[in-house]
Amino acid sequence: MLRMTADSHTVWDRCIKTIKNSIGAQSFKTWFEPIKPVHLEGSVLTIQVPNKFFYEWLEEHYVGLLKATIKKELGDQGKLEYQILMNPSSSSPKADRMATGNPANGESHPGYLPNSFINPFVIPGIRHVRVDPHLNKQYTFDNFIEGDCNKLARSAGLAVARKPGGTAFNPLVIYGHVGLGKTHLAHAIGNEVIQHHKNKTVLYSTTESFTNQIIQAIKNNAINEFVAYYQNIDLLILDDIQFLANKQKTQEIFFHIFNHLHQNGHQIILTSDRAPKDLEGMEERLISRFKWGLTTDLLSPDLETRMAILEDKMQKIGIELPKPVVEYLCHHIKDNIRELEGVLNKITFYASLHQRPADLEMAREVVRDFIKSSEEELSLHHIQNRVAEHFQIPVDKLRAKTRKRPIVVARQLSMYLAKNLTNKSLKVIGEMFGGRDHTTVLYSCRAIQDQMDTDKEFRQTVENLERQLALSVR
Ligand code: ADP
Ligand code: MG
Repeated sequence: MLRMTADSHTVWDRCIKTIKNSIGAQSFKTWFEPIKPVHLEGSVLTIQVPNKFFYEWLEEHYVGLLKATIKKELGDQGKLEYQILMNPSSSSPKADRMATGNPANGESHPGYLPNSFINPFVIPGIRHVRVDPHLNKQYTFDNFIEGDCNKLARSAGLAVARKPGGTAFNPLVIYGHVGLGKTHLAHAIGNEVIQHHKNKTVLYSTTESFTNQIIQAIKNNAINEFVAYYQNIDLLILDDIQFLANKQKTQEIFFHIFNHLHQNGHQIILTSDRAPKDLEGMEERLISRFKWGLTTDLLSPDLETRMAILEDKMQKIGIELPKPVVEYLCHHIKDNIRELEGVLNKITFYASLHQRPADLEMAREVVRDFIKSSEEELSLHHIQNRVAEHFQIPVDKLRAKTRKRPIVVARQLSMYLAKNLTNKSLKVIGEMFGGRDHTTVLYSCRAIQDQMDTDKEFRQTVENLERQLALSVR
């Protein structure tokens, strides 16, 4: 082993001399100094590079030089293999920053996670990039209960999973209201592909995380690498693309990635809370591409499907509920499977808290609580809708990050009204405005109060809105 290490060093040192004479000092310093020889086996020299960009860069710019040099040192059979060190601490400065990913949500850039070696690439060999697919293994086809509400989407998903990129369903766009199984189905497809197509690189990303990575990449001047990275994915799942709305730069970058993937027969799966044609703030060229494949929706499940889903979940968590309780829950929670899971958890919790079996009375109580809290949530929505209507802006802007003046005022005003007209906590109000914290809500209320104190017309507007809403909001 020692001897082999020494040999690899000797050979690499000789290669380095040749390379140094062939390229500029700066390039040499950037791209060759960080390389370490790892071992030599027969005529195959393995070198270690800090990361995948590095490898790609070498392959793109220096493959000819490397090949010639290796052949000179090791003969015609000479070959170079790469080991990629996925440890950010020893990578090039640029790649380092990419590897850091997005500290905001504590998530690393997918694919740069493991702090260890991964499979070597072989020039001019096949790529085996091990990317963390970011899939939730719990979401499978087996536990995605079929019903009329999801039949088409489910079978299209299965078709895509069997032949990613090889069907007419590219992209596959799955849309539907919140809590109806878009994310579950998307993961199920990813998991199925991973299982049956071991050589395919799968990546699931929320649109939010995708956008954050782009912001980070722009900051680090690493957007080309970002794009190149995504272009290597065989199955890309982008969840909740409605959040691409009004994000021009992200849309533009996604457009390039989309085109490349599609042209090369890679599979794209998108989910959205509305049909592509209803996506506002989205470039037309993207929308038209979304329609290239298959667009399919998830509907609210009928009673039988809800019961089948609930029973499946009960089995999974190992509890039994009397049939009338299951029926009662499924009768009352209709439009959102996540909520159905919510009431199941709640009743299980109640039963264990009171140490008595769940019965109809308990079910009624849980459902009553549930409906009450969703009605309160509704009243916040109602305020937002009314204010948005008054200012003639799209209501989702109130929950978005934009800091444009009229929107900021409308948002602050909605928070002010929510605080005055409902008994929701500042925390809950903040959450209803795109996850802002309670200090933002307090600040907003003060800002509105200040403006009312100095601007008579504004005061009138606020008081009018407040009066109207007081009649309809509890
Ligand atoms: P969405 O992404 O559409 O908001 P999710 O995929 O997060 O919805 O689904 C919400 C919850 O409902 C998840 O826990 C999921 O497992 C469950 N669910 C949705 N549809 C089904 C189904 N057909 N069978 C079983 N569970 C489902
Ligand atoms: Mg989802």
